[in-house]
Amino acid sequence: MAEKRISGYDSLVRKCYRSGGYVFARRAGGVPGNGESCRLARLASNENPTPPSPLAVEMGYRALQEANRYPDERMEELTSALSEFHGPYHFVTGVGMDGVIETVIRILVEPGEKVAISVPTFSYYSLAALAQGASVINIPRNPDFSVDIPGFITQANGAKISFLCTPNNPTGTVTGPDDVEKILTEISGILFLDNAYVEFCDRDYRALMAAHENLIIGRTFSKAYSLAGLRVGYAFVPEWLVPIYMRAATPFTLNAVSAAAAIGALRDPGHVHEAVGRVKRLREEVFEKCRFPVTPSGANFVMVDVSPMTGKEVAGCLADAGVLVRSCESFPCLGEHYIRVSIGEEWENTRFLDAINAL
Ligand code: PMP
Repeated sequence: MAEKRISGYDSLVRKCYRSGGYVFARRAGGVPGNGESCRLARLASNENPTPPSPLAVEMGYRALQEANRYPDERMEELTSALSEFHGPYHFVTGVGMDGVIETVIRILVEPGEKVAISVPTFSYYSLAALAQGASVINIPRNPDFSVDIPGFITQANGAKISFLCTPNNPTGTVTGPDDVEKILTEISGILFLDNAYVEFCDRDYRALMAAHENLIIGRTFSKAYSLAGLRVGYAFVPEWLVPIYMRAATPFTLNAVSAAAAIGALRDPGHVHEAVGRVKRLREEVFEKCRFPVTPSGANFVMVDVSPMTGKEVAGCLADAGVLVRSCESFPCLGEHYIRVSIGEEWENTRFLDAINAL
């Protein structure tokens, strides 16, 4: 059992790394992290090209000046700011939503228990579940990448926790709150609803928290809030989960600088609003101008069907033209003909469209 688990985990990690843009970046003469100097269009990681809010930077800087002190262990200032922003919900925080997912799986799932995942989707649910020794069940979506609701309910039966991502990475497709509610009322386990990209679509799932004790909604400051490098994630959780989470999480879930910057970002909604508006406008432009089929997206990226070429071939050609995109062949149940492209700055999108339309 242990051997099987480790080999599955390792190969998944290798696959994700290979298709993550780094190999292509090197071929294109630069590596992500070198920034503007090599003028690569960095459209592989769903980042926000808009820099963080000046208020986030200022508050982070002030916290850095007091970094000789430990932060507040319970992250009360950040959770109060989240309550001020969203309303009186219960929150937990983590090192990115990745950190929240890892902690939730570690506290709720015993080795051998079932974890159900609507696929194709974000790989980390599977990685974290396999690392915990869980038995992972992939539940395929419909051919148009919508969720097969009755199929999901049937196959998630008996799972300790199920994962559903909306808007979904990498397809960009959105599952509405009504469908999520149907799932919540029918399944016996917990549903982790991943809302990493929710600010880029016009749906709101928060009201579901009131009626469902088996719902966790994951959020992040990495996307709409432009703080990917600071690693701030959080989740709306049922009240019963808070003390269990706090006992199991590492003592300081976030560092003081990240927490302060996140509070600053929350207090500058105009900045986020502008960045999100720009993403929506440029997303529409990619949708209209790309000569390959683009799946309608509610996120800050789009998925493009590059058949009959493979995603890997196209990602390689685009890298040669200085555009980094994500080839999607490592996503289970998706096949090898897709790429995922983040909505970047205007020049990045133009370069992407010019390069892909010339293929
Ligand atoms: N969920 C989804 C769907 C994601 O795409 C990502 C990151 N790309 C995450 C969660 C993790 O985000 P974070 O940066 O907060 O760890």
